[in-house]
Amino acid sequence: MEAAEIVVIGAGIAGLAAGRKLAEAGCRVILVEARERVGGRLLTVRPPGSALPVELGAEFVHGRPPELLALLEEAGLSIFEREGELLCHDGTQFTDGGMDESFEVLDALPEEGDRSFDAFLQEAKLPEAIAERTQQYVEGFNAADAGRIGTASLRRQQEAEEEIEGDRGFRVREGYDRLAEFVAERFEAAGGELRLSSPVEEIIWQQGEVHVRLRGGEELWAAKVVLTLPLGVLQAGAVRIVPEVKTEAISAMAMGAAARLTLVFSERFWEPEMSFLITEEKPLRVWWSASPDDAPCLTGWVGGPRTLEAPADDMALVLAALESLGRVFGRDDLEGLLVSAHRHDWLADAWSRGAYSYAPAGALGASAVMAEPVEDTLYFAGEHTDTTGHWGTVHGALRSGLRAAAQVLGSCAQGDSPSASASVGRD
Ligand SMILES: Cc1cc2nc3c(=O)[nH]c(=O)nc-3n(C[C@H](O)[C@H](O)[C@H](O)COP(=O)(O)OP(=O)(O)OC[C@H]3O[C@@H](n4cnc5c(N)ncnc54)[C@H](O)[C@@H]3O)c2cc1C
Repeated sequence: MEAAEIVVIGAGIAGLAAGRKLAEAGCRVILVEARERVGGRLLTVRPPGSALPVELGAEFVHGRPPELLALLEEAGLSIFEREGELLCHDGTQFTDGGMDESFEVLDALPEEGDRSFDAFLQEAKLPEAIAERTQQYVEGFNAADAGRIGTASLRRQQEAEEEIEGDRGFRVREGYDRLAEFVAERFEAAGGELRLSSPVEEIIWQQGEVHVRLRGGEELWAAKVVLTLPLGVLQAGAVRIVPEVKTEAISAMAMGAAARLTLVFSERFWEPEMSFLITEEKPLRVWWSASPDDAPCLTGWVGGPRTLEAPADDMALVLAALESLGRVFGRDDLEGLLVSAHRHDWLADAWSRGAYSYAPAGALGASAVMAEPVEDTLYFAGEHTDTTGHWGTVHGALRSGLRAAAQVLGSCAQGDSPSASASVGRD
C-alpha cells in the first residue's frame, strides 16, 4: 500500500506544473496520465532531414509571459523570435500586408456588452472582404466559431496580450516537448510519482475523500484531486465525476477545432523573408515558415468551423495542401520536393477532443467558475480554467496549474491538511 496525499490528473503543462509545485512543497503526489508520454498538447517530432523540430501541438510562445519564460530559462531551453513579412495572396497574386483593416476592427471591439463576433461584424457594416478576412483571422487564431466566440472574451484577450507584448512570437529551438519533460523530471526529483498509460475513468468524491478509478480497475484514493482534463474531455463526459460538478460552466465554454499540417521540403521555394501567408485557398488558408530559421518547412493551418473542410485522411490533406501551394506559388513540382508531412488530429484524439478552448458570448465568467475549488477537495486547472485572458495557450495552462497548486497549499495552510492515510490500492 502506497501513501498519497494528492492525485493530479493529466500530465500536460498544467498538471505537471501543479504536481511539481505540490511535490516540492513536500506533499506526496501521484500524477496520472492517459498517454504513454507527458506533455499533452505539447507534441514535437524530429523528422530526419529537418534541423528544426516540428511541433504538432503548441508551437509559439505568444509574447513574453513571465512564468513561461522563467521556466524555459530554468530548463536551459532557447527561444528565437519569429521574423519576416506577412503576405496575402488574393487568388491570383501576392499582396503586401492586407491585415491592417482587420486589426483596426479588432481594436474597435465594444467595451460594453457581450455578443458573438459575427453579430458584431454585422452591426459594424464593414465592406464584405474586410469582414470576411477578419472573421477568418478570429476563427483561425482562436480555433473558434465566430458565430459563438464573444466580443467580451476577445477584448479581455487583447488586453491580456498587450500586457505581455502578445504580438511577438517565439519558438523553442529544442522543441516544446523538452519543457514538459523537464518539469516531469523536476516533479519526480521532488518525490512525485508519475504514472503514464493510466487513463482515469471515474472520480467518486465527497469532501476530503476522492476515489480515482483507472482503466483496468486500479483505484487511487486521496484527500484532494487536481483535474487538468481538457475541456473537450470534460464536455464529452469521458471521465465520470460522481456527484457531477461545474456542469453549467463546462457546457458554457467551447472547445475549438483546428487542423495543422507541417510539410518538410528538400528546398525552400518561397522568399526567405516570408513569415505568414494568408491565402484564399482551401482547406488550409494560413501558412507560416520557420523564418528567420531557414528550415525548408511550411506549416498550414485552418481553425474554427472551416476545420471541417480539411480531410480527415492524412494523405488527402497533404495532396490538397500541395495543390493549393502549387497554385499560390505557380509550381507543379511540389510533390517531388516534399520530404515528409506531419499532422496530429487533435479533434479525433480521445485525450484532447479538440484544439483549445474559447469563451462564447455570455460565458466570460465560466473559466472563473472552473477555477473555484469544490469543497477544498476538487481543484481544476488547464488552459480552459485560465482567468487572465490567456485561454488556449501554454502560458495560460501553466498559470492555471500554478494557481491550482497554490489553492491546494493555501487550504492545507488553513489546517485542512490532506490525510496522511490517503492511499493507493487495487480492487
Ligand atoms: C494544434 C495546436 C496548436 C497550438 N498552438 C499553440 C501555440 O502556438 N502557443 C500556445 O501558447 N498554445 C498553443 N496551443 C494550446 C496549448 O497547446 C494548450 O493550451 C496547452 O498545451 C494545454 O495544456 P493543458 O495542460 O491545459 O492540457 P493538455 O496538454 O491537454 O493536458 C491534459 C492532459 O490530460 C490527459 N488526459 C486526458 N484524459 C485523461 C484521462 N481520462 N485520464 C488521465 N489523463 C487524461 C491528456 O492526455 C493530457 O496529457 C495549441 C494547441 C493545439 C492543439
